[in-house]
Amino acid sequence: MAERVIPIVDKRSAVQAAAVPAQAIAATGDLRDELGRPLRDLRISVTDRCNFRCSYCMPKEVFDKNYPYLPHADLLSFEEITRLTQQFVAHGVRKIRLTGGEPLLRKNIEILIAQLAALRTPDGHALDLTLTTNGSLLARKAQALRAAGLARVTVSLDGLDDTVFRQMNDVDFPVAEVLRGIDAAQGAGLGPIKVNMVVKRGTNEHEILPMARHFRGTGIVLRFIEYMDVGATNGWRMDEVLPSAEVVKLIHTELPLVQLEPSAPGETAQRWSYADGGGEVGVISSVTQAFCGDCNRARLSTEGQVYLCLFATQGHDLRALLRGGASDAQLASAIAHIWQGRSDRYSQLRSTLAPDTGSGRRRVEMSYIGG
Ligand code: SAM
Ligand code: SF4
Ligand code: SF4
Repeated sequence: MAERVIPIVDKRSAVQAAAVPAQAIAATGDLRDELGRPLRDLRISVTDRCNFRCSYCMPKEVFDKNYPYLPHADLLSFEEITRLTQQFVAHGVRKIRLTGGEPLLRKNIEILIAQLAALRTPDGHALDLTLTTNGSLLARKAQALRAAGLARVTVSLDGLDDTVFRQMNDVDFPVAEVLRGIDAAQGAGLGPIKVNMVVKRGTNEHEILPMARHFRGTGIVLRFIEYMDVGATNGWRMDEVLPSAEVVKLIHTELPLVQLEPSAPGETAQRWSYADGGGEVGVISSVTQAFCGDCNRARLSTEGQVYLCLFATQGHDLRALLRGGASDAQLASAIAHIWQGRSDRYSQLRSTLAPDTGSGRRRVEMSYIGG
């Protein structure tokens, strides 16, 4: 039987070695990129594996059993992640989000959480430590995550109808188990909990109102995310994007909404509250309303590459420096140098860019750097 050929150019896009600049760059806590944007938010991917096959992220046809997932030795260890995170914190990072792949599949993740929860900002504050999960293992793990020091979780959930949900995760996973996970997270005090729903026109827009009704009044903040053209494998088409403005209009007709101010600079969601006091909902309009202007997020891949944009085609390899014996000061200088050279603003430029025909460098996959 002919052997299946897996392309060498896979999800990992291109990599550039991170360099230690000749002139050390001291950490002042106020690092700025070329567009004057500070570094405040670090998303850390702890695994490139997942037990779901959401078609918009890890379509089955590509992410099958022959897919070349990273071998364990290539992953950053918990100590390596914590050491790098310390340098990011010295440069101004205040919020850490653990992601993946499915972060709860990483063995002993509680140990990493405990290490990160012990980190302090230069003025002695704990970090805002959170995690994004598909919720499949949350019922089992919520208590242990909280005990390790996790502050809160975001759970991804694309609908309440069991048939729709099973189709969207494409592994026939039942919605009831995710709902049980959300309950367990609430019970464990991992709040305020956010629930993210990716809306794909023609697939799950009829779940918008049931989701809004279900989470209204629970203290859980539901957020609708526009389906994005991340990566190079999900076959994204603009006509499958349901603009957030339509989501808001739809909810508003049944459950009147009042717009709220952003809670923090660089906040990705536009926030609304139910006029009757039923709590909050949000929309993340990554496609129709770019928010690159104050994007303060860096992403650290499972194998230690820094990506400066969700749509980047190239990462900066910090693992080689780490494993080559770089000092903390050298790591901090290398991070500063990378951020200072950042000018990414893909979503703002999307409509002016030539369509991705697959001939150039591949965009990094979301399952590799996380959301
Ligand atoms: N597995 C975890 C989960 O699903 O929550 C964490 C990783 S997942 C890549 C992080 C987030 O990215 C999820 O909320 C998921 O819905 C979102 N996401 C993945 N692909 C997307 C796409 N093409 N457009 C919009 N959001 C996407
Ligand atoms: Fe897995 Fe999350 Fe991607 Fe779905 S969105 S395939 S749960 S990593
Ligand atoms: Fe940030 Fe890139 Fe998204 Fe713009 S497109 S908001 S720069 S991650």
